[in-house]
Amino acid sequence: MSKRLKVLFLAAEAVPFVKVGGLGDVAGTLPRALRALKGGPDIRMVLPLHPQVDRDKLNLKPAAAFSVGHVDGSLRVQAFETEVDGLPVYFIDGGPIAEAASVYSSDSRADGYKYVLFSMGALEMARILDWQPDIVHAQDWHTAAAIYYIKLNRKYDAFYKKCRTLLTVHNLPYLGNEAGPVMQDFGLPAAVESGLPEWSQQMPLPLGLYAADKINSVSPGYAGEMLTPEFGSGLYAYLAGRKKDLVGILNGLDEDSWDPKTDEKIPVNFNRDSLVERKENKRQLQDELNLAVNPRIPLLSIISRMDHQKGIDTAIEGLRLAAGLPWRVVILGTGTPEIEEQARQLGRDYPDKVRTMIRYDEGLARRIYAGSDAILIPSRYEPCGLTQMIGMRYGCVPIARATGGLKDTIVDFEDSEENTGFLFAEGSAEALAETIERALGLFLNDQRRWRGLQLRGMAQDFSWMRSAKEYLTLYQSMMAEKLRR
Ligand code: ADP
Repeated sequence: MSKRLKVLFLAAEAVPFVKVGGLGDVAGTLPRALRALKGGPDIRMVLPLHPQVDRDKLNLKPAAAFSVGHVDGSLRVQAFETEVDGLPVYFIDGGPIAEAASVYSSDSRADGYKYVLFSMGALEMARILDWQPDIVHAQDWHTAAAIYYIKLNRKYDAFYKKCRTLLTVHNLPYLGNEAGPVMQDFGLPAAVESGLPEWSQQMPLPLGLYAADKINSVSPGYAGEMLTPEFGSGLYAYLAGRKKDLVGILNGLDEDSWDPKTDEKIPVNFNRDSLVERKENKRQLQDELNLAVNPRIPLLSIISRMDHQKGIDTAIEGLRLAAGLPWRVVILGTGTPEIEEQARQLGRDYPDKVRTMIRYDEGLARRIYAGSDAILIPSRYEPCGLTQMIGMRYGCVPIARATGGLKDTIVDFEDSEENTGFLFAEGSAEALAETIERALGLFLNDQRRWRGLQLRGMAQDFSWMRSAKEYLTLYQSMMAEKLRR
């Protein structure tokens, strides 16, 4: 019998311990799914012990105490361990980790100090515990330093001599820009002969990309887009040279949490066999929002962070262009004050058609997925995206920009019999307005085919098991390849 793969999985955040964004969902769920696979790896997760982590609930046991080398003298670090659903989880604690006010700040130099210490601490901890990983799997810039350390030291460091490395890119534009000098303070110099563009040679994410044996992104579409000037954050040419080491693996969705048949936060549960019951959710949502209660009036929705990436500003313009159509819309989101204000203004300009809710409200989000007819997702770029998958599972048809993971998960109405939604290529208000018109045309004139879209969306397999199997295959292929020095 072949020996069980050992994978050390590093992340800045992970459910159920600490979650800021989508990375937290992925990092918390993927390792558990991998462990649950037949033939799955002995994967162990390492997280910073952020002050936001509720340590009283965790039954943390001290695992190791040691120092990490730094130009100003060594830094003391403590490691703790616990378990969640059979997944061993280690936490790294020490100076800047314990002192940080938030998981991420706007100061990437301060974040760099914290996360480089974390990355180096995670590697050192494995050494002290004598748990020798076959693969170190890092996420985004926060943990990329660990991979760069391994590349630099594989020749001299017996413990990591045979270790392979994988870097998953969840969001390319976050390079850890100001953290370069911090890397050097931890003994990680700029990589002048790496082939990276000069401006990036000391930044954590570019160095991680350079150092990683394999790179993956969270959808095949985004993995391809990273090679283009539009989406490549200045690294597209470098990444194009690494194309054979780059793969895309679509994230999964937590299908237990997002199940319209069991969701306790929606008025009426339903599934594919009882889609007709969904009507009541729409009725109650219209009522809750104080909109005219009428099943024939199309109810659109937006549930999103209000960030430039998400294109909500374009959606608002597009809705204005399409104001002559009989839609209503509910907008739920928080973020950039200007975009929030544009959304409020739309509500003031169209009081009978628009409801704007500037807050984070998971219960309302679930009622919207369960009751609105279609969800608008106009992202400028989207590494994977969850809202389209949740929408489809809840019979809420996605109308989305054809980019990244959106393009990979939604089949446009006109493209195939297997259609599940509507896509538009160009990120303009006009393109969105035309697509709303196209969708409404179907909704108003052909309910039978609209139901077909809903039913096919609800039948999609977005499980983490599917995704975890692809990661396992990738790990196995990495082990089969000869190690590059
Ligand atoms: P990202 O991680 O880039 O924000 P995703 O589409 O991957 O985007 O995930 C967004 C998640 O956050 C979804 O689960 C969505 O329902 C949820 N969400 C976003 N904004 C809100 C909000 N204002 N209230 C409740 N849930 C929200």
